[in-house]
This record gives sequence, C-alpha cells and structure tokens, in this order.
Amino acid sequence: MINSSLKQLGQQLASKQVSSVELTQAYLQRVTQLNPTINAFITLDEEKTLAQAKAADARIAAGDFGPLTGIPLAQKDIFCAKGWRTTCSSKMLEKFIAPYDAHVISQFDAVGAVNLGKTNMDEFAMGSSNETSYFGGVKNPWDFDRVPGGSSGGSAAAVAARLCAAATGTDTGGSIRQPASLCGFTGLKPTYGLVSRYGMIAFASSLDQAGPMAKSAEDCALMLNVMAGFDERDSTSVNREKEDYTRGLAAMTGEQPLKGLRIGLPKEYFAEGLSADVAKVIETAIAEYKKLGAEIVDISLPNNNLSIPVYYVLAPAEASSNLSRYDGVRYGHRAAEYNDLQEMYMKSRAEGFGAEVKRRILIGTYVLSAGYYDAYYLKAQQIRRLIAQDFVEAFNHCDVIMGPAAPSTAFKAGEKTSDPVAMYLEDLYTIAVNLAGLPGMSVPAGFTQSGNGKPLPVGLQIIGNYFDEARMLDVGHAYQQVTDWHTQMPVALENI
Ligand code: GLN
Repeated sequence: MINSSLKQLGQQLASKQVSSVELTQAYLQRVTQLNPTINAFITLDEEKTLAQAKAADARIAAGDFGPLTGIPLAQKDIFCAKGWRTTCSSKMLEKFIAPYDAHVISQFDAVGAVNLGKTNMDEFAMGSSNETSYFGGVKNPWDFDRVPGGSSGGSAAAVAARLCAAATGTDTGGSIRQPASLCGFTGLKPTYGLVSRYGMIAFASSLDQAGPMAKSAEDCALMLNVMAGFDERDSTSVNREKEDYTRGLAAMTGEQPLKGLRIGLPKEYFAEGLSADVAKVIETAIAEYKKLGAEIVDISLPNNNLSIPVYYVLAPAEASSNLSRYDGVRYGHRAAEYNDLQEMYMKSRAEGFGAEVKRRILIGTYVLSAGYYDAYYLKAQQIRRLIAQDFVEAFNHCDVIMGPAAPSTAFKAGEKTSDPVAMYLEDLYTIAVNLAGLPGMSVPAGFTQSGNGKPLPVGLQIIGNYFDEARMLDVGHAYQQVTDWHTQMPVALENI
C-alpha cells in the first residue's frame, strides 16, 4: 500500500477498501518507526491528523469527495497551518503557532486531504542539504550517511521513504528539484505566480514558489490541480483560468507519444561541474526520449554561469528585508535578558537565527546599502533579465529543455558545510529557472553506485515555458510509462 500512487489510493478510499483513518494510521505507524532515524518530520499532531482523517471518511461516506480526499500528505514547515507549530526550522519560530492557514494548506483542507505533519527543512529554506535546520539534519533514505538535499529535505526524505503519500515543498533556487534528484522522486516547481505564496513564510519573494513532491508525474499533476489557482491575497498570484493538469496524461501511451516534441539540450548543462556518472544517466534518459519520438535540439543558455552569483545578491537582499520582522517584538524569539531596546533586538536576532541565515542577512544588507546598491543589486537585476532572455530565445527552438537537476548525487553529511560556495554550486542547473520565473521539474532517471555499493538516485530536469506545466507533466509521465525508476524505493525500507 505504501508504494501506491495517489490515484490507486484514491480508488481504494472511494471503493472503501480502506478508510482514511486506516491509511493515516498506517503512515503514522511508519513515521513512528522511521522518523527517529530519518528526522523528516519536526512536528506531528496525531489528534489533529486523525480528526481530519475521520472528517474525510465522513465525506467519502456522503459521496462528497475528490481525488485527494482522505490522503495523508506531509507539509513543509514553511506553510502556516492553523493551530500547528510552524517554525521554518528556526529557533526564531520554535514556539510559533500559526493563527491561520496558508493558501496551499487551505486548498488541501478544502478537498479533504489529511495533514500528516510538518517536515524538516533548511532554516528559512536557506540551504541545499537540510543541514542548516535548527532541528538537525535529515537522513537520505537511500544512504543514511548522506543528505537528502534541501531546502525541502524533510518532505524529500518523507516521500522517498514512503512516510507519506506525497508532500509539499518550496523552491526558491532549487529546493524542490535538487532534493527530488537526490532522493529519487518527482518534484515540480511551478511558474512563478501559479501557486499563491499567502501564508508561506517568505525567503526571497520574487523567487519563492510552492510545488508538489511526489512519486510520479501523475501524482504531481493531481497535487498541482489543488495547489494552483488565483488568490487575491498574494499580489503576484496570476489570475488565469484553472487547468486540469492530468488532462493529457492518458494519451502518453503507444508507440511514439512524444512525436514531434523538440527537446533543447543546453550545452552549458553538460559542461564543467557535472559529474561523469550523472551525465551518463542523463544521456541514457535522453536516448529514451528519442525512442518516444522526441527530437533533440542543441541550444545555449550563455548567461547560466552568472545565475549563482546573481542569485546570491538578489536572494539575500530580499531575505534581509523579509527577515527584518523577526525582532523579538513583532515576531519570533526574544532574548531573556537585555538592558535596553537595542540590546533586546541584537540579542534576540543573534540567538534566534543560525549561521547561514545570518550570513544571508549580512550579504543582503550589504548589497542594498548606499553606494553598493548600484554596483551589486542593480547590476544583478540587469543580469537577471539577460538570464530570462536566454530562455525566451531558447524556447524559440524547442518545447522543453532537459538536463540534470543537480550536478552530483547525494553527498555525505558534513561534506560541504564548511564551504558555502561548494554548497551553492548544488543549484547550478536550477537557479536560472527561478530567476526567469519558469517552471521546472525533476524526474527519477536512474542510479549511480556510491562508494559502499548503495544505489543513489539521479534526477532528470525538465524545464518548460511559462505556464506549460501540463505539457511538462505529460513529458514526465510518458517517460514513466516506459521506465520504473520512479517506483523504486530504498531496499532497506521496503519491508518496514
Ligand atoms: N539552495 C538554495 C539556497 O540555499 C535554494 C534554496 C531554496 O530553493 N529554498 O538558497
């Protein structure tokens, strides 16, 4: 049951083969067993969770249900959920109980999905390994010595270890796609503006976007159907007609379902920085796409090498502004002892934030300060436009872009913690997509062997044009009809 797709689970619930309470209890039991080791969840509330499951069963009994009614989902702890502790994995918010629901949470509530718990993450979503969390690291279910990626590392490990049916994440520079690659599942970062950021704790507002993390493209489509949609409470939410993201999936069978699809391969994604074993897996996946009928087009994204430096000016600038609200008065931890107001602010922020968050606030404040604004911030904004322009040009020649989602497979815990730049390079193939506001996804494409013989997953990235999620999901689904990478789960956990 734990390896079932959302569709299968939905059918089992609808036909009353299993109740939502039973399904939820099965997942909770698995969480009880494995979470002490994996540390994917940081807040569980069995009572609330089971109450939702009961309500879902009542809806099913009354015939008032949809595809996700009664299905237990894990929620990244960046989403405010009413009555739930919502920490963003920071000491700053260790005791914060959200008084309202984020849009994403209320959308899932409305369809009767069950909130299984809140997942671990890098502090304020700053990181690529989940190691900046105040609540400690998360283990990669494929190899406990390794990181799950980040910042959505808890959701990633929860999906990979089948501790939930699916999960939510957020992606500011790669935080859905890179962990999807490192943990072997399907994750989608939608077009900027497709999913409301209301109630999603802000990191870098012009880049942050929520998306689904699930086993397959089909599961992601079902999740996105719930998450996407206009919300007037987010000024960047795009008012466009609702789509059914599953609408094209059924046609993705037969001889050459992708006949005529033009896949762009950016030469910059296959250059220095990409590990050889990952490159091999990606090349094999591309060959599979050719068999499905796709044509390959060579393209170039000439400014991709500037995306990391540009991001590390813009994201910290926005973060320094967004995080100014945590001052011990309006929000967040307050120091126990202080002599005056100034010292209260200083001590509260010094105690409440971890090292990476402080580094970002310092960089952000610096690049926004008088004299440096033009040299750094403005310049970065200009290059951001050039990076977006590269994609506009590329999409004149292709329908989707493919490449690796991450430069290497999961690395060992501690391996990159003392070298921020090495950590930042994890997002070499994902950050430009956020800077351009485009949608990107990662689908499991195979494995490499780690030193100790354990298979480590590799993700293929599919980048689409603005609001072209339905096509991307079709493209991912077609591949998942002829491969089974997405159904594989860590051997050690199979029988638990
Ligand atoms: N790894 C990137 C960072 O540390 C991106 C994180 C994210 O997407 N939230 O900022």
